[in-house]
Amino acid sequence: MPVSQDTVSDWMSRFAESMREHRDELVRLDTAIGDGDHGTNMDRGMRKALERLGAQEQSDAGTVLKTVAMALVSSVGGAAGPLYGTLFLQMGTALAGKKEVDLQDYVAAWQKGVQGVQARGKAQAGDKTMVDALLPALQALEGASDLDSALQDAAAAAEQGMRDTIPLVARKGRASYLGERARDHQDPGATSTYYLFQTAAEALAR
Ligand code: ADP
Ligand code: MG
Repeated sequence: MPVSQDTVSDWMSRFAESMREHRDELVRLDTAIGDGDHGTNMDRGMRKALERLGAQEQSDAGTVLKTVAMALVSSVGGAAGPLYGTLFLQMGTALAGKKEVDLQDYVAAWQKGVQGVQARGKAQAGDKTMVDALLPALQALEGASDLDSALQDAAAAAEQGMRDTIPLVARKGRASYLGERARDHQDPGATSTYYLFQTAAEALAR
């Protein structure tokens, strides 16, 4: 089954719902190694994104993602808003004009998105950021042969990447100020990124 504009819209609704549902968990994680706003940031940004999606007809899958990107950039302060904004903007640009997206288009869009996040935030694997969930998920997508299993595998890989941030010391973002004290805590941004892939898999399986 291809990824349609409807699937992408449904994914964004589900991600917004997930950010609302997990807001307190993300706040708790960010309170431990940051300033405690990741859950409220993501919830506010995705609410704004849904408002904008509802206000205007979207012409294709790329436009949906670009609309979400603009909403995040304009309503979320802090590191994660612009980073998720870049992810969605790059993905949206890669999918511009496409009503139906096949596996190859979809993987290419994620590659662009992840490259954008890394170009903007300069985080590498193992720096204890959202990149630690994005990279293994992308690798799973690149190795997949069909879309449905691709997204299931990507979600599982993102979840593992999220858990693998627990023992790390942070080299980027606010948590990097804590040095050794950031160990034994799960990164909030890697956690929201896991939910991003989980909801992508759910939207496609629907
Ligand atoms: P802030 O840190 O400004 O308060 P948030 O709390 O919303 O912003 O987001 C924190 C998350 O942002 C971190 O858990 C981490 O995953 C991610 N992050 C921070 N800096 C970077 C970076 N340079 N590259 C990638 N991700 C980053
Ligand atoms: Mg924060």
